[in-house]
Amino acid sequence: MAKYIFVTGGVVSSVGKGITAASIGKVLKSRNISVTIQKLDPYINVDPGTMSPYQHGEVYVTQDGAETDLDLGHYERFIDTDLTTASSVTTGQIYSSIIAQERQGVFLGGTIQVVPHVTNEIKRRFREVAEQSKANVVIVEVGGTVGDIEGLPFLEAIRQMRSDMGRENILYVHVTLLPYLSSTGELKTKPTQHSVNELRRIGIQPDVIVCRSDYPITEDIRDKIALFCDVDRRAVLPLPTLPIIYETPIVLEEAGLGELILEMLDLPQRSGDLREWRHLVEQMKEPTEPLHIAIVGKYVELHDAYISVREALRHAAVYHNRDVDIHWIQSEDLERDGDSLLRSVQGIVVPGGFGVRCIEGMIIAARYARENEIPYLGLCLGMQVMVIEYARHVLNSPQPNSTEFDEGTPYPVIDLLPEQRHLQEKGGTMRLGGYPCHLVKESRAASAYMEDVVYERHRHRFEFNNDFRETLERAGMVFSGLSPDGRLVEISEVRDHPFMVGTQFHPEFHSRPNRPHPLFRDFIEVAKEALLEGDQRPLPL
Ligand code: GLN
Repeated sequence: MAKYIFVTGGVVSSVGKGITAASIGKVLKSRNISVTIQKLDPYINVDPGTMSPYQHGEVYVTQDGAETDLDLGHYERFIDTDLTTASSVTTGQIYSSIIAQERQGVFLGGTIQVVPHVTNEIKRRFREVAEQSKANVVIVEVGGTVGDIEGLPFLEAIRQMRSDMGRENILYVHVTLLPYLSSTGELKTKPTQHSVNELRRIGIQPDVIVCRSDYPITEDIRDKIALFCDVDRRAVLPLPTLPIIYETPIVLEEAGLGELILEMLDLPQRSGDLREWRHLVEQMKEPTEPLHIAIVGKYVELHDAYISVREALRHAAVYHNRDVDIHWIQSEDLERDGDSLLRSVQGIVVPGGFGVRCIEGMIIAARYARENEIPYLGLCLGMQVMVIEYARHVLNSPQPNSTEFDEGTPYPVIDLLPEQRHLQEKGGTMRLGGYPCHLVKESRAASAYMEDVVYERHRHRFEFNNDFRETLERAGMVFSGLSPDGRLVEISEVRDHPFMVGTQFHPEFHSRPNRPHPLFRDFIEVAKEALLEGDQRPLPL
């Protein structure tokens, strides 16, 4: 039977609850305890798939095709386990499922209520993720902040779990912020006390309090929180803001979290081994010469929209003993000012995206990369843009496009598949999740992966249009990754170029801190060579 750790947040949002949940997972996994992590999102959307990046940041995609919260990306990067649809629960899903049951008459004329029907459905999801993953410990992060109106049914469900499962099988971790008052030069504990009071009012007494702060947390602050919140002093854990998020498990381990959790969950004590992770963090901390890489996108002012891309670049850079200095380039700036912003970078990434706005700027970036032999990595939309740009060059026409951006284009090099054209709904109608991709021998992609077949994650509607395959192939484009039936183009590359590769999938979701994605790894390798050859500034200025 699995044990559960419930992670709630207090005081304000964005204090790093997701990283804390992921780090708890890492600390346990380093002790050979199998873990999985589930995120509860209290909003009423069914999934974040249809939400704007401004609302939500990146949509993370699991191997089995769920569109999920970006915290699942942190979880996978920290615990290095593929999560599934069962790890992502929203209020929208809970209500959809209850209402569907009600329409089928499952409730036999009963009145459907938050307690017990909604809470039972939530608890069913807890059991489901435990059963599917067979994990010893299930970590469940409750999204939002204690006190949010939408979060109440989730908190009630986790409260019930303690009496359902027994005290020794449930642990409540509360993550709070200690604000700093510059006028008095001190950290304040009152908001933490209030948020713990709010939890208690609901019936939950936290066992562990993780205190986030931008400043060092003194022993007397720990004492005070322990006293006022009625928590074991050892269980008040300071977590100062860290420049490298991957250090969090190490800081929590050193603060005694691993031992404490085993003790509180009545699990046999065993020591953890974070040596490899520690080594990695040391490497990341080591200052090295930065590589200048551009991310050209629509939402660059919002770095959360490209978290997995940013992390994948970092993982690849640290593998090559380099720092990475990301130049966030708003693609509309390229439309306005031309390619001058790209002159100081050694590699260009065009990430995924939707909608026509910003496309032409991305095409300028692809063209600049092709003409100046700058390494280019196109991710999903980034591949489509690369193909459009190449087609415009080959056909010597500004008209090639994707029908997503220009329905009437005479050269629809990117298009919907015929069987998709009737689809009306927006949610859940994309090609989602892992699909096999066969690599074509002697291509750049094949040499990066060193495998014949890979399973990469998708999230898109449009595909490369095979009507143009021959023309573009003849003109120097290589279609180096294909679906098993050969019909869908999964990877394209430009033959006579140091590194110009686009993928119809999202390789960034598979990158891990200690295992960079092969395409990111090779992209950075080529970018790095560019620097060495050109001595500091490799590019035409
Ligand atoms: N908008 C494109 C499509 O739907 C690309 C999607 C993406 O980049 N994730 O095919």
